[in-house]
Amino acid sequence: MTEKGSFYSEPVFGEQNPPFFILEDETRGAMNCPFCGDGKTRVLDTGKSDQNDVQRRRECTCCGKRFNTMERPILGIPMIVKSDNSRQEFNREKLLRGLRIACAKRPVPAEKIEQLADDIERELQMEGKREISSRIIGDKVIAGLKSLDQIAYVRFAIVYLQLDDLLSLRKEIDRLLSES
Ligand SMILES: [Zn+2]
Repeated sequence: MTEKGSFYSEPVFGEQNPPFFILEDETRGAMNCPFCGDGKTRVLDTGKSDQNDVQRRRECTCCGKRFNTMERPILGIPMIVKSDNSRQEFNREKLLRGLRIACAKRPVPAEKIEQLADDIERELQMEGKREISSRIIGDKVIAGLKSLDQIAYVRFAIVYLQLDDLLSLRKEIDRLLSES
């Protein structure tokens, strides 16, 4: 990736403390203490989480309290190139709306739908490209819906795969049935 990345750090607390975000200064030790807001913190220990985020154990030089921060790259999201060659910013809400319509009245938990939108967004970020074809998103959506709910998948496929007659719709359904 050639884009210049940026980072945020997020203190990780136990359940008794509300979570909040803190932007990290360029110099690693110069972050303000989330407890007294005043003191600078110094890094005691650095490690990595399962997701490869950088975690640091910190101590305030003023009040002496300790906490962890988590650092992960903020990646850009590529522009979407539509079939008519126009460009559009990726819109997670719009994707989510489309997924909800496909899953309407189906026994799919809301969190599963949001999870799919998150997964797709994350995959787009991981591509690390400036532009990406809308077909690639469509393919990800259709693959995701297929594993989520077959009716939702068929609803989406009718539009996306342009199944505009009963015969092509039946072929797709036969294919689904033979797979499951
Ligand atoms: Zn402090």
